[in-house]
Amino acid sequence: MKVLGIETSCDECSIAVVENGRHILSSIVATQIDIHRPFMGVVPEIASRTHTEWIRDTFTETLHRGELALEDLDGIAVTSRPGLVGSLLVGLSFAKGLALALGIPYTTVNHVKAHLYAPQLEREISYPFLGLLVSGGHTMICRVDGVDDIRVMGTTIDDACGEAFDKVAKYYDMGYPGGVAIDRLAQTGNPQAFAFPGPNLHKGDHRYDVSYSGLKNAVINQIDQFWDGVSEKSLENIAASFQKRAIDILVKRLLRAVEDTALDRVVVGGGVAANSYLRSSLADVRGLEVLFPPLELCTDNGAMIAGLGYHYLKEGRISPLSEAASARVEGFRKTYP
Ligand code: ATP
Ligand code: MG
Ligand code: FE
Repeated sequence: MKVLGIETSCDECSIAVVENGRHILSSIVATQIDIHRPFMGVVPEIASRTHTEWIRDTFTETLHRGELALEDLDGIAVTSRPGLVGSLLVGLSFAKGLALALGIPYTTVNHVKAHLYAPQLEREISYPFLGLLVSGGHTMICRVDGVDDIRVMGTTIDDACGEAFDKVAKYYDMGYPGGVAIDRLAQTGNPQAFAFPGPNLHKGDHRYDVSYSGLKNAVINQIDQFWDGVSEKSLENIAASFQKRAIDILVKRLLRAVEDTALDRVVVGGGVAANSYLRSSLADVRGLEVLFPPLELCTDNGAMIAGLGYHYLKEGRISPLSEAASARVEGFRKTYP
């Protein structure tokens, strides 16, 4: 079954065709990064307008590169939540129109679940496993027992991990997008130059939760308080010290979940899955099988939408044309243990 995947939840206008949930036949990620760079962040109105301008050509070019015809498509999967509503609506409306015109089924996909599916575009992964979803808007540790059987163990109680990278980078004018800039600067920085604090989550039911607002505040507003007094206060040193703390916070909670559940397989997804320090930290954990998406499938892409959507369509989960877009990530409250 050849499924067309459409992703327009934020600033990537991406369309792909994936066969049987696994083989990418064609994929285009048209990113708006350069358009939003002057603002050092995604401007929602510009994002949705750009999607309307780009989506048709992205679609025809995706078919062209894959040497595919309209008749080759068996179904359509599209992101309907969470994201910027104006941007989501462009992809969702395009998907509905196409499904109606071609007389093929379409299904809506939760973007966050699709991020966790991305590593499965490369290889078959057996269930159960622990999912670590770290993106620009979400951070969660979950237990995954099936393609759509996801129980959340912990989340961030404030900022998302990627959001913290983006805000620190924006404050220090390190580059855009922030996560990529910090990762690059950190390569030549000293991670011990600043001893930034971790979160204080000892009270209440926060066994697998993380928090980033305290760390962000320390890096932006209290830098001198955490300085070792010797190292240079360079961007490289700030980036390396921040990155180390931000990722260590995550890894600590994840390893606690590994220990508690006795699951020794971890699947990582979302933009921060591209982070080199996260990758090397988890590679060093003995006895743990860690599966990352390839770099180009960490951030937003239509292939992960098509991949997950294939499973829905196979089960006959066809969405009605009345389906709405939503900014919120429904159904991701803590449900495990
Ligand atoms: P969500 O998926 O939660 O709706 P999003 O789609 O905006 O949010 P993604 O596209 O998954 O998020 O990822 C973008 C995020 O990943 C940004 O916050 C970006 O800074 C971060 N990121 C990308 N590459 C890296 C990296 N190498 N290191 C750290 N963060 C990174
Ligand atoms: Mg993006
Ligand atoms: Fe995303």
